[in-house]
Amino acid sequence: MNDMLDLAGIGIGPFNLSLAALLSPLPQCRAKFFERRESFSWHPGMMLPGTQMQTSYLKDLVTPVDPSNPYSFLSYLVKKGRFYRFINADYPRVRRVEFADYLRWVAGQLTNLSFNAGVEAVGFEGHGFKLSGAGLGDVHSRHLVVATGMKPNIPTWIERHVGEHCLHSHHYVGVDFSVAGKRVVIIGGGQSGAEIFLDLMAGMRGRAEEIIWISRRPNLEPLDETAFINEYFTPDYVRHFHKLPEQRKPPIVSSHKLTGDGVSPATLQVLSQYLYDCDFLSGDTTPYAILPYRDVHLVGRDKNAYRLHMRNGFNNSDQVVVADKIILATGYHYQLPSCLDDVIGRLDLDQEGYPRLREDYTVAWDGPAQHRIYMQNAGRNSHGVADAQLSLAAWRSALIINSLLGKTVYHVDPHPTALQWAGDSGRRDMPADGMGHLAKIYQVG
Ligand SMILES: Cc1cc2nc3c(=O)[nH]c(=O)nc-3n(C[C@H](O)[C@H](O)[C@H](O)COP(=O)(O)OP(=O)(O)OC[C@H]3O[C@@H](n4cnc5c(N)ncnc54)[C@H](O)[C@@H]3O)c2cc1C
Repeated sequence: MNDMLDLAGIGIGPFNLSLAALLSPLPQCRAKFFERRESFSWHPGMMLPGTQMQTSYLKDLVTPVDPSNPYSFLSYLVKKGRFYRFINADYPRVRRVEFADYLRWVAGQLTNLSFNAGVEAVGFEGHGFKLSGAGLGDVHSRHLVVATGMKPNIPTWIERHVGEHCLHSHHYVGVDFSVAGKRVVIIGGGQSGAEIFLDLMAGMRGRAEEIIWISRRPNLEPLDETAFINEYFTPDYVRHFHKLPEQRKPPIVSSHKLTGDGVSPATLQVLSQYLYDCDFLSGDTTPYAILPYRDVHLVGRDKNAYRLHMRNGFNNSDQVVVADKIILATGYHYQLPSCLDDVIGRLDLDQEGYPRLREDYTVAWDGPAQHRIYMQNAGRNSHGVADAQLSLAAWRSALIINSLLGKTVYHVDPHPTALQWAGDSGRRDMPADGMGHLAKIYQVG
C-alpha cells in the first residue's frame, strides 16, 4: 500500500513532538503525528505568569541526544534573537510560558504533524494499523506510537460537583472564574496548588472573601531536586530500574514521590516571603488559611455553598469548611485513551492498567511482532518516575527511533551514574574517555 506510513503518532504533546523532531532528519522513516487540538498547546490551563520549568532547558526535545538538531531550545533563542538577553537575565529556570513558546515554535516548523486530527479509533487489519477520526479520514501505518498524556484526577467524592464553581487546575487559565467576594477552597498541596494559591492571593481573579488551601500531606513538602535524586532521571538508572522484577517496582516508585510531586523549593521560598509580607508588612491582605494533613472525604452542597468535611490527621479530629468556589489541584493519572478500545484486550497490561513496556517502550501484544505499539508517558510502572517528566524525553525518543529503524541512529548510552544500582555497574560499556576507577563488588548467589 503506497499510503502506508512507517509510524503513526497519536497525540502531539512534548513527547511525540520530541520524537517528530528527532525523526525529521531521517527521510527513510515515513512518520506522521496526529493531534486533536487545532494547534500545538502545552498545558494552556496552567500557563500562569511567572511560573517556571522544573527541568533544565538543556533537557529540551533534542539536545540530550543530538545537540546539532535544529529544534533545540538554544536554536530557538538564537533564531528569536534573544540569546544574549537570555544569558544576561540569568534565570535559574526558564519560565513555563517561554518553554511553551519554544515547543510551539518547533511544532510550527515540522512537516510531519497534523492538527485538528483527533484519532477516534484504532484497529488492526493484518498488514498494519488503521487509525480513523473525523479530521484524518483513514490512516494506515506499520507501527504506532501513543502519547496522549495524563487525565486530570477528580476524586470520586467531588465528581458530581465539578462545573461552573468547582474546577480542576487543568482548566484554571482561560476560564471565567471570578472569586471576588467569594470563599475559595483549593484542594491539593503540590506545585499547582501552590501556584493557584499565590495567584488568587494576588487578586488575579478578584479579591476573595477568604482563601483556604487544603493538603493531604503533613506539610508543604518540597520537590527534591538535589544531585543524587536527579540520578533517577538518567538513562542508566532507568535501564537498571526496568530490569527489576515487576513486584519490586511499585514500592520504589512510591518512595520516589517527592522527586516529581512536591512544591519546588523556589516556589516555597516565594510563598514563605509572600506570607511574611501579608502577615507583617502589608495592611490589606485577603484572609487565608493553609491546612496541611487534611483529608477531605465528603462534599455537600448547602444552598449556594459547598461544605467540605475533612479529617485532620495531625490530631485526628474532624473539621468542616464552607466554600463558594473550589479548585481541585489534585494532579493527574494515567489512562489508556479510548481510541484504543478495540485493541485494549490484545495488550499486555498490569494490575493497575498500565501497559507492560519492554525496554524500547513497546507494549507486548498478541498481534504480529513486526507491527509494534510504542507508548510514551505510560511507563511509570515499567520504567519508573522519570517516565512522566521531560528529563528523558529526547533519550526515550532516540531509543524508539533506534528500535523502529533496527539500528543505532542515535547514541543512547551516555556515561552511567556515579551510583551503582545493581551488581553490574554498566561501566563495561563506558565510552573510551571514562576513567572507570571501579571498586569490585561480588554478587552472592
Ligand atoms: C502544569 C504542568 C507543568 C509541568 N511542568 C513540567 C516541567 O517543568 N518539567 C517536567 O519534566 N515535566 C513537567 N510536567 C510533566 C510533563 O512534562 C507534561 O505533563 C507533558 O506535557 C507530558 O507530555 P505528553 O506528550 O505525554 O502529554 P500532553 O502534553 O498531555 O499531550 C498529549 C496530547 O495528546 C492529545 N490527544 C489525546 N488524545 C488524543 C487523540 N485520541 N487523538 C489525537 N490527539 C490526542 C492531547 O490533546 C494533547 O495535546 C508538567 C505537567 C503539568 C501538568
